[in-house]
Amino acid sequence: MAGNFQTVQCPDCENEQIVFTKASTAVNCAVCGTTLARPTGGNAAIEGEVGETVEAR
Ligand SMILES: [Zn+2]
Repeated sequence: MAGNFQTVQCPDCENEQIVFTKASTAVNCAVCGTTLARPTGGNAAIEGEVGETVEAR
């Protein structure tokens, strides 16, 4: 399994963004800059509200 993408809703501005579940760098909200995911070495730690999973293609 190469990993999936998930929609994550920003807790601050409710912007929805697609985040790679195994992101190796921090992912910030494109609108307000809040950290949405932090790299942990495995699955990223998601900071926002996780929405649907988007299968990797
Ligand atoms: Zn935001």
